[in-house]
Amino acid sequence: MAGYHSPQGDVRVRLNTNEAPEPPPAAFVESLRTALDGVAWHRYPDRAATVLRARIAEVESEAVARVAAEDAGAPSRFLAPNVFAANGSNEVLQSLCLAYGGAGRTVATSEPTYALHAHIARVCGSAVVPGRRHEDFTLDLDEVDRVLEAHRPTVTFLCSPNNPTGRLEDEATVRAVLRRVESIDGLLVVDEAYGQFSPWSALSLVDEDRSVVVTRTYSKTWSAAALRLGYLIGPTWVVEELEKVVLPYHLDELTQLAGVLALDHLDDMERRVAHLVEERGRVSAALDELPVQQWPSAANFILFRPLTRDGDEVWQDLLDRSVLVRNCSSWPGLDGCLRVTLGTRDEDDEFLAALTSSLST
Ligand SMILES: *Cc1c(COP(=O)(O)O)cnc(C)c1O
Repeated sequence: MAGYHSPQGDVRVRLNTNEAPEPPPAAFVESLRTALDGVAWHRYPDRAATVLRARIAEVESEAVARVAAEDAGAPSRFLAPNVFAANGSNEVLQSLCLAYGGAGRTVATSEPTYALHAHIARVCGSAVVPGRRHEDFTLDLDEVDRVLEAHRPTVTFLCSPNNPTGRLEDEATVRAVLRRVESIDGLLVVDEAYGQFSPWSALSLVDEDRSVVVTRTYSKTWSAAALRLGYLIGPTWVVEELEKVVLPYHLDELTQLAGVLALDHLDDMERRVAHLVEERGRVSAALDELPVQQWPSAANFILFRPLTRDGDEVWQDLLDRSVLVRNCSSWPGLDGCLRVTLGTRDEDDEFLAALTSSLST
């Protein structure tokens, strides 16, 4: 096996890993600095991460209530037992694979998608069955049917908005996948690392009686990729299984503290998300004027394919101008594609100028 690899470089404009372009609010960093004085460093952290999980439950309940405001049924409220937190959503995904995948079990993905789903599943000893999406990267429900029926996976991953394509699955599609997953007694994992950038969330489907969980992260929306904090919202019976497999005291005191304090700055973070969504529209409109194909994105990045030049060459041209984007051009199903993370307005302008120049040579 090869390990996870994402080329980094010393560049001026870094638009390759879907991080937030701005640091978190200064008031958050200040409150964390102050809170550190109260840490009992000689003691193990709270193993259950009680305060953090309660706070996440509260914030996500409010988010669901907002999004689902026009729905007939009252939105369910989440409680701490519905939340599992870990070191990045990658550790959440790993815990899911440890509990529900493993030797003799199968995990399903819909490719192209986030490479770590298949990677983590394999590291945990599971067999992986990759289903294909349609040519335009929308989900192929017939293919999902075929894969689930033939292989009866214990875990089915669905990334929405999907990395690296940006595609959002709508409610009808996610419900349809969930019905199929439940018919084979599986678990549906909706990876919403980019959920806050999109108009609909599968959080509204999470319920004690449904076999679906939603994973989210502080790495993208919360400007805190350095922190390593992610979480899952799901039925209590899933969270109980995850607690059995995760290492004791895996979530250190500093991370728990920072995770709680960050959520005191919701308004600030929502403003940043709104700004990035606006940038998405602006950059997408600019790409429309260039000889590239692009796909609609509900995330903080855009996948595009240069039509007049080779993807590798364009990627190198951008790098020569100190603009780093993700080179997906040799990934299966993504021939010639590049993925650009939305940055600050200035960074995006530099990217667009470099791309325009590359495509006119
Ligand atoms: C970035 C990303 C993650 C985030 O992982 P963390 O471990 O929380 O940093 C998870 N899923 C997808 C699809 C991502 O793109």
